[in-house]
Amino acid sequence: MISRRLLFSVMIPALVALSTTSASAAPLKVVASFTVLADIVRQVGGDHVTVTSLVGPNGDPHEFEPSPSDARALNSAQVAFVSGEGLEGWMDRLISASGYHGKPVVVSEGIKVRTMDEDGQTVTDPHVWNSPVNVKVWVANIEQALAKAAPADAAAFKTNAESYLKKLSALDAYAHSKLETIAADHRKVLTSHDAFGYFGREYGVQFLAPVGVSTESEASAADVARLIGQIKAEHVKTYFFENSNDPRLVRQIAKATGAEPGGELYVESLSDAKGPAATYEKMFRYNVDLLVAAMAKAT
Ligand SMILES: [Zn+2]
Repeated sequence: MISRRLLFSVMIPALVALSTTSASAAPLKVVASFTVLADIVRQVGGDHVTVTSLVGPNGDPHEFEPSPSDARALNSAQVAFVSGEGLEGWMDRLISASGYHGKPVVVSEGIKVRTMDEDGQTVTDPHVWNSPVNVKVWVANIEQALAKAAPADAAAFKTNAESYLKKLSALDAYAHSKLETIAADHRKVLTSHDAFGYFGREYGVQFLAPVGVSTESEASAADVARLIGQIKAEHVKTYFFENSNDPRLVRQIAKATGAEPGGELYVESLSDAKGPAATYEKMFRYNVDLLVAAMAKAT
């Protein structure tokens, strides 16, 4: 009963919003692979799109079990967006299962990606969004794809994209100004998996993590032992949990090294609407504030 009432309270404003938007066409039906990307598509699309995120809030975008309703959402989508670079390993299977005929737009195309060696293989780091400089490339790709799908709304997409690019520049400047207050040799933290490489590259922070760039891989005992040695040698004092990942391993390493908890970072998934990271903008500022507070305390 409660859930039905909730459903109606969500649906009614949505219906009202639909009926009062553009007199021209119905909003474009869009699917995005995960919440961070869905938010950016909403920022660019505005009232002219309805966006469904396949992976939900606090969900892990690497490992995902799509449901029949995800297949239906994809099947009826006019445009589908993925980040790419190996993030959504489950997407091809979902495309075949859903009968979707289009090809998803890969928004990370054009970003200068990081590659690293993982167990003898060169892998690409898919976590591009943790630098707002990279998200500007997403915005350009999203604007182009939406304008192609709904040419009548191209001017609106352009206006929205331009105003969001300004917000991304502000986020970048904010991170630079906050991180610059921390001495370079104190910018070191421990996280669950290697998801902050682009953030580290942009703002000069060293992130240590037991698990590689995908949560699908597992750290070996030797990896963990090496990391504990490195944390002690480099005097890393703070560790962080992630909203979408298992905290056990990072907690175990912290215990072995004496690192203190710094809080919960939103690395690859937004919070729900009531949480502190309901949009990308909020997520990024929240992470910067949490990281800076912890590093300042550890100095
Ligand atoms: Zn990840």
